[in-house]
Amino acid sequence: MGKMGLKVGIAKDKRFLEHKTGHFHPEHPKRLSSIYRMIEEDFGSNVMVFKPEPASLEHIERIHTPGHIRRILRTAEQRITSLAPDTPISASSYMAAWLAVGACLQGVDYLMSKGCDAFFALVRPPGHHALADRAGGFCIFNNLAIAAKYAVETHHLDRILIIDWDIHHGNGIHDLFYEDSHVFYVSTHDLMLYPYSGEIDQTGNSSGEGYTVNIPIDRAFSDEDMIYIYREILTPLFLRYDPQLVMIAAGFDAHADDPIGRSRLTAKTYAGITRLLINLRQAGANPPLLFSLEGGYDQRALTQSIKAVISELINDNETNVTSLSPNQDAVNLVAKVRDVHARYGIIK
Ligand SMILES: [Zn+2]
Repeated sequence: MGKMGLKVGIAKDKRFLEHKTGHFHPEHPKRLSSIYRMIEEDFGSNVMVFKPEPASLEHIERIHTPGHIRRILRTAEQRITSLAPDTPISASSYMAAWLAVGACLQGVDYLMSKGCDAFFALVRPPGHHALADRAGGFCIFNNLAIAAKYAVETHHLDRILIIDWDIHHGNGIHDLFYEDSHVFYVSTHDLMLYPYSGEIDQTGNSSGEGYTVNIPIDRAFSDEDMIYIYREILTPLFLRYDPQLVMIAAGFDAHADDPIGRSRLTAKTYAGITRLLINLRQAGANPPLLFSLEGGYDQRALTQSIKAVISELINDNETNVTSLSPNQDAVNLVAKVRDVHARYGIIK
């Protein structure tokens, strides 16, 4: 185990299980308890485990409006209420939300001080749908957006890459950095699912023009198709954008067994993209990797997928990413993304 792999940190905390969403909600506490059990049984001392602190208000305020933050605080110690029709919240949810952001900020600090090479914030609630002034899509605060802003302002980075492989478009991250070149957002998603955004020709605006890549995928795509798409887009992107920090909005709902996503992928896709990232960082400036849990609603598929990612990081497994046989539809999609982005000169 762990033969010359990356040094991996993990954030986990039982307080994330206190965010109760009701009996029939897919984003339930058992998602995390199953992952935490797997971490203990399968990785034990091969990963460093950290307990997060709640984020400080000043960092959350760099992304969210005071009105939104006040609304979350007012739910403290209340019975189950709702922030949005799909986003219920319970008495201790505010604390879980504060801790989820805190875990990502802690990840940035550990990675930037070289305490580890990769960090996985195993948190809930997820974050990529949260907007500046609004919760939604099971998300309360935009965990990774706050972490990216924090990395720019506190660690003085100016090139952060966020990869969003959740099957849903991360409209929160997308909108928050749409006019910002310091954060490059790449998302693969199904346009027919919530929040129904992320068209291929949306590429960013003003100084952020060319720094957003939306890749609407086909539900029929295979693992090889997905690994191929990421390889073809990320290889030139790493070369020309040269990210100083890579964040992954790690949702696993494109898995074939997921009850919400309608795709056909397996854990191999997530292992494959992780292997690509390991190869690309080693060929470049060695940027650290911050993963944060987003969606993924089949406990077994979710747990096995995260296990595949961590196995890849610690080098217990090496997924093939070189000899791929993608379907013609995947090849055509890459050509279309290259065409849309040709004038920005980053993805060639
Ligand atoms: Zn999702």
